[in-house]
Amino acid sequence: MPLYAYRCNDCAHEFETLSRFDETPACPGCGGAHVERQLSLIARPAPGGETAESCGAMSGGTPCASCPALAGQM
Ligand SMILES: [Zn+2]
Repeated sequence: MPLYAYRCNDCAHEFETLSRFDETPACPGCGGAHVERQLSLIARPAPGGETAESCGAMSGGTPCASCPALAGQM
């Protein structure tokens, strides 16, 4: 499940949670249901720019420069 960021309209509490797209979680601060999904915070770049999923070495291809598997061998 994807990680979404939310902001509570009742107490302004901001939090992140794993959630289905069609589910709205309750606010962990006040328990209210008036939370808004923060779309701008979803696509944060992974540290190093490359993720294991995008690296070719993980699928038998050419490793990228920042491949975590390569870093362990050099
Ligand atoms: Zn709240």
